[in-house]
Amino acid sequence: MNNLMAVAEAIKKARRPLLCGHVMPDGDSLGSVLALGLGLRLLGKEVTIVSSDPIPDLYHFLPGVETVIVGKVPEGRYDLLVAVDCSVPERLGSALEAFVNNGLPVAVIDHHVNDQPFGHYNYVRAEAAATGEIIMDLLDLLQVPLNLDLAINLYTAIVTDTGSFRYENTTAETHARTARLLACGIPVSRLSNQIFGEQPLVSLRLLEVALGTLAVSHCGQIAWMSISREQIKSVGAGDQHIEGLINYPRKIKGVELAIVFRELDEQRVKVSFRSKYRVDVNLLAKKFGGGGHVRASGCTIEGRLEQVKELVLKEAKELFRGDSHGR
Ligand code: 5GP
Ligand code: MN
Ligand code: MN
Repeated sequence: MNNLMAVAEAIKKARRPLLCGHVMPDGDSLGSVLALGLGLRLLGKEVTIVSSDPIPDLYHFLPGVETVIVGKVPEGRYDLLVAVDCSVPERLGSALEAFVNNGLPVAVIDHHVNDQPFGHYNYVRAEAAATGEIIMDLLDLLQVPLNLDLAINLYTAIVTDTGSFRYENTTAETHARTARLLACGIPVSRLSNQIFGEQPLVSLRLLEVALGTLAVSHCGQIAWMSISREQIKSVGAGDQHIEGLINYPRKIKGVELAIVFRELDEQRVKVSFRSKYRVDVNLLAKKFGGGGHVRASGCTIEGRLEQVKELVLKEAKELFRGDSHGR
């Protein structure tokens, strides 16, 4: 049943909740989990927040981030696992996946397209621009008053998943919620610089290397880049510096579908998809065992970088067969 009230009731009853987001955490995953964590602490709960993967430096400014435990779940008697911004248990990461089927009740709060969420209590709203929007509603239901720390986390969740309110998922509701956050006094300009306006030098070095691989399909509607482990190593970058690279193939005029291939190791490649108006990239990622949203999705595919590129591009080009749109 898709019921935020039921999720709120389960959370109200919990005394020692374990909260988590997804692997390779982004602004929505972190902002949502931290806002919920800070809110539940205000209600006197003993909250543990765990992230399977390290937190990108970019997000180290988030209030409460120092309380996140990375890579392991500390021993403890938890009474509820709350997973946010995560549609499948595998995306909780290795530190947390084991907690899903061990008898601990699970609540899922998410905005990915998903008709079979994995919790005992679920609330999935695919129309929400960010999970952070739902967390705001949940905090209202729990009667937690907004404060500056909560607002900074919620704003970060929303501003990152909407690409600064530029993506199709941005609605009047998104702006109405954001107006409440601004009223808490968040420093918008400073946050914009921290999140979008500044990057470490290695990110730009990585961009330089990645742009060298930029390619566009014959029809002009698909653009892609690929990054090998060797290339990442050659500039001294890490996985955290890859976020945002997909915006470059996406920027090209006439391109509908942007793809980034990232070699994880010799056997696995992470693929990110973005579309502008027409292609349902959730369906495309699903063909390879992944998922996400209509305009942003991803998957991890077994195989070597070149093999995976060939496989995915073949499928992508099928979508535009006989279509001269955009040329
Ligand atoms: P990104 O390309 O930024 O990693 O992910 C874009 C969107 O697709 C996010 O909403 C993310 O949750 C989803 N996504 C990325 N990779 C996977 C995956 O391997 N499996 C699923 N189910 N969703 C993914
Ligand atoms: Mn996310
Ligand atoms: Mn999200």
